[in-house]
Amino acid sequence: MTAQLIDGNALSRQLRADVAARVKTLAGRGITPGLAVILVGDNPASQVYVRNKVKACEDTGMHSVLETWPATLSEQDLLARVHALNNDPTIHGILVQLPLPAHIDAQRVIEAISPDKDVDGFHVASAGALMTGLPGFWPCTPHGCMKMLEHIGYDLRGKHAVVIGRSNIVGKPMALMLLQANATVTLCHSATKDLAHHTRQADVIVAAVGKRNVLTADMVKPGAVVIDVGMNRNDEGKLCGDVDFDGVKAVAGWITPVPGGVGPMTITMLLVNTLDAAERSQG
Ligand code: NAP
Repeated sequence: MTAQLIDGNALSRQLRADVAARVKTLAGRGITPGLAVILVGDNPASQVYVRNKVKACEDTGMHSVLETWPATLSEQDLLARVHALNNDPTIHGILVQLPLPAHIDAQRVIEAISPDKDVDGFHVASAGALMTGLPGFWPCTPHGCMKMLEHIGYDLRGKHAVVIGRSNIVGKPMALMLLQANATVTLCHSATKDLAHHTRQADVIVAAVGKRNVLTADMVKPGAVVIDVGMNRNDEGKLCGDVDFDGVKAVAGWITPVPGGVGPMTITMLLVNTLDAAERSQG
């Protein structure tokens, strides 16, 4: 069997066209959704991420503001910027790019963002809303994975989903979203014994670890859906995921590539969250 590809670029183009249309409708009512992105320091990967986010906003007709600050910015000054943006009516979403310099408490900064503008979905209020099934902003990466499953028409009810990785931004919210869609969920992590024992039973596998070849063909049930969140570099310095793509695609039913899979979907869901925030601000 050769797995069908879930093309994150193609799905993103489709979803971003929907976003652009909704932005136009809002513009007719005099509202332009606005996203503020704060970057502290000069981490090269973060610089690329924030540029891509800001460009994606502009491409869909949204307003965006990129604030770049030196790594020496104090926590107090960063909190003051967040408070100012909380009170800025032209800004509907606030994103503080992580990681932050070591002298800044990232969690304190995230908690300072108004939950109404928490388009990254990292605030405890957003996490609590997801946990309890209340409306709120879902973290963009796992939300993008759910959109991919929805796109291929995959019914999760009663299916066994195995998530590898339990971070607050990917693994844990991913598990909760799959649970909410009525899958039976297993959440694996670095202390999991015999990872392959779990993955071989899975109808859906989401790999969110950050290590190459965490998932190989012998660990996958024929026909399973495999979603690769990982972003790593191979020996040639090329971007690759956590999944041994060439091996696993011969066994799986569906698979996401890296690049061109989950990555573009993450930015797309940020746009969706910002648009939702703007629409909600109108009541
Ligand atoms: P993270 O915070 O480092 O979490 C990694 C998770 O993997 C942890 O829960 C860890 O377990 C688990 N783990 C480590 N080694 C393992 C092993 N051998 N077997 C099973 N589990 C293992 O990373 P993250 O922020 O969730 O990101 C994960 C990956 O996704 C990274 O490559 C990141 O770059 C990528 N990512 C991509 C996007 C995108 O847009 N495509 C967005 C976000 C993240 P413990 O909890 O026990 O330590």
